[in-house]
Amino acid sequence: MTRDGHSNQPDVYTRLGVPTLINAKGPATRLGGGIMAPEVADAMREATQHCVDMATLQSHASDLIAGITGAEAGIVTAGAAAAVLAGTAACVAGMDPACMSRLPDVRGMKDEVVVVRSQRNFYDHAVRAVGVRLVEVGLADRYAGSGVRDAEPWEIADALSERTACVYYMAHPRSRPPLADVVRVAHAAGIPVLLDAAAQLPPAENLRHFLDLGADLVAFSGGKAIGGPQGSGILCGRRDLVASAALQTLDMDLYREQWAPGGSLFADLELDGLPPHGIGRTSKVGKEEVVGLLVALQRFADGGAAADRARAAMLCADLRAGLGPLLPDGASLSEAHPEEVHVDLRLIEGRARLGALDLMLALERGRPGIHADPTLVDEGVVRFATVCLAEGEPEVIAAQVGGLLRGG
Ligand SMILES: *Cc1c(COP(=O)(O)O)cnc(C)c1O
Repeated sequence: MTRDGHSNQPDVYTRLGVPTLINAKGPATRLGGGIMAPEVADAMREATQHCVDMATLQSHASDLIAGITGAEAGIVTAGAAAAVLAGTAACVAGMDPACMSRLPDVRGMKDEVVVVRSQRNFYDHAVRAVGVRLVEVGLADRYAGSGVRDAEPWEIADALSERTACVYYMAHPRSRPPLADVVRVAHAAGIPVLLDAAAQLPPAENLRHFLDLGADLVAFSGGKAIGGPQGSGILCGRRDLVASAALQTLDMDLYREQWAPGGSLFADLELDGLPPHGIGRTSKVGKEEVVGLLVALQRFADGGAAADRARAAMLCADLRAGLGPLLPDGASLSEAHPEEVHVDLRLIEGRARLGALDLMLALERGRPGIHADPTLVDEGVVRFATVCLAEGEPEVIAAQVGGLLRGG
């Protein structure tokens, strides 16, 4: 089977001997993300055929990202996590080349980042990698079951000091306190707010929403809903901070006299000297990722988001239609919604032939391997997301699930 359009050639994974899988989890990095729109892939291929000055390319990227997000500036990074790292480095080092050069040694600099305790997550390694100490705030009583509260704005205000580089905020509909309140107390102390909004798209409106609420830097993943290269992301927000992040990410092996990037990102910047390679140089992006992300972002903002969603909803209907008739006693589907992009399969313990985790594992070990979303496995539910499926794959999933549950 090929997906590259050259039907009489085995595709590259076949040539490499690497089995492909059916991704019913959604755009997960672990599973190779999603499937790229042809115009994005074509743009990346075109990008390979010329060389460009990367600072100038990022500066033009900045204008395009600014136009779409409403930010002052933006750059393409090697993923949202890389954007969080570069954004933290910007908040710590500012425009000081000596500070940029010293990171992750933060002695003498603003070396603390304030975070609400319930927002701690594995991705905050990107913040800590800069050398700062996370200062955790609040008790998530609502999670412990012992109360109703989470961190309060006054607790955040209390934790801010002259050592605070920024407040790091994990954007999620459940995140507390609300972003607007956090922005208010941080800005009152003159401290920026850095937002991880990696997975908060769609809706496309969120490209502007968090910035409208006052976030100073926002990180988005390029390899999730935007549909860009798997190893891409966006850092957008205040121009001085984005420019600092860019300087700490670009390759800086050049004489001061050679530094003459075109475009607006670095225009009129006051620099005491040219920094060397910065802490973000380890997560570099190539021109192909920059170009691919920009084409994908434009497509996403121009209605691609809605088109992708409609396509996923159709695949969802296919999956539902395929699964429904094959389900034995003890297995049932979640109620249908017109715009759904996943189907939940509930298995009743003792009645279904397999439990949720066992079914998931059996599907993963099948041929082709089918990878479902494990989020609700604890509750006896296997979730099948359809955003990363290709035509025909819902039918394959239905047949495999039916076979496994019926003992076929
Ligand atoms: C996916 C994700 C990231 C990482 O995004 P990449 O683009 O893969 O680096 C960071 N934070 C959150 C909350 C995410 O969901």
